[in-house]
Amino acid sequence: NGQSALRLLDASLLKFTKTKTPMTVPEPGDPIINSSSQCTDHMVTAVWRVSTGWDAPELKPYGNLSLAPTASVLHYATECFEGMKMYRGYDGKLRLFRPDANCRRMLTSATRIALPGFDPLELQKLITAMVTVDGPKWLPKSRPGTFLYLRPTMIGSAGALGVAAPKEATLFIIATFMPKLDQPRGMKLLASQDSVRAWPGGFGFAKVGANYGPTLMANSEARARGYDQVLWLLDGVVTEAGASNFFVVWRSKEGKVQLVTAPLDDKIILDGVTRRSILQLARERLTSSGAGVESLEIVEKKFSMEDVAEAVKEGRMIEAFAAGTAYFVCPVCVVSYKNEDLTIPMKLGETGEYAGLIKTWLMDIMYGREQHEWGVII
Ligand code: PMP
Repeated sequence: NGQSALRLLDASLLKFTKTKTPMTVPEPGDPIINSSSQCTDHMVTAVWRVSTGWDAPELKPYGNLSLAPTASVLHYATECFEGMKMYRGYDGKLRLFRPDANCRRMLTSATRIALPGFDPLELQKLITAMVTVDGPKWLPKSRPGTFLYLRPTMIGSAGALGVAAPKEATLFIIATFMPKLDQPRGMKLLASQDSVRAWPGGFGFAKVGANYGPTLMANSEARARGYDQVLWLLDGVVTEAGASNFFVVWRSKEGKVQLVTAPLDDKIILDGVTRRSILQLARERLTSSGAGVESLEIVEKKFSMEDVAEAVKEGRMIEAFAAGTAYFVCPVCVVSYKNEDLTIPMKLGETGEYAGLIKTWLMDIMYGREQHEWGVII
């Protein structure tokens, strides 16, 4: 029909403009690391327009974006993002952990809020370019066992008011320092009473900014009361803990040790990369004896806060933990429910036995102590 085809996102067109004013990498212990505000020298950007498709992506010096005050994202929350890490291994190599899963999830999230599609593999290539350019300097070989946080983001950048699918979108990838957030001594959770994070038919499964801003009030309230995170319930059913998936290990009434987490099928919770990795490793390594612990049954099913309270009161709770990129595998020591603190056992004093094993296995893959297809060398 004479119209030229819309251009697809194409990482092979990436244009490189290196910075002329390189920044200084902060030393370990520098407070800026805890502020999660220090980005690396570069960022990747790519602009999409409804009429032409994707422009050639650019890798360029890190800097501010320029947006019209009418930009869609500023009014209608047309924003989605990913959170992943690049790791400096003990073998000196830089790795990403299952980046394909993050890139596919980013497409799922973008689609949910009418932002444009792309081939997830092209996004992965752009992330790889970011790591290739900034990784060696910002995660030096002299600091094995460290990581940087990567934040691929897409926003509706069209400058026009009106509740409609944005006609322009901007993809960007930045990398920042982030402190280690896992607390080996355990986190305290406050089960949500009045507020919910996500609901059937909503967008809890998508990593969209609109899922986070509205949780901040409940989060602040939890902190003010001495808890670390909210355990999100929906009609009494346990869903997620803060920005992490939530697992319990308990002995069922029938006497079986079970690893239990909320299912994905009602699309209320995020399909965490850590969650699915834990389930897969547990299926491979913990369902028969051999790991030095009692074998487990792996269960993805709905369970309620009443079930958790009952297991604690009957002495069947073995451990609980939150799992995600930022908090990693973080034991839970207390869940407050209906104004009562339920104490969750932590067998090793720090982490639980099962969480401890899983955490070690995952770290071994991330930091190259175990060669595994999930640890993608850059
Ligand atoms: N749930 C929510 C709501 C999150 O924001 C995150 C962090 N991305 C997770 C779970 C954990 O997902 P992942 O393991 O992919 O980091």
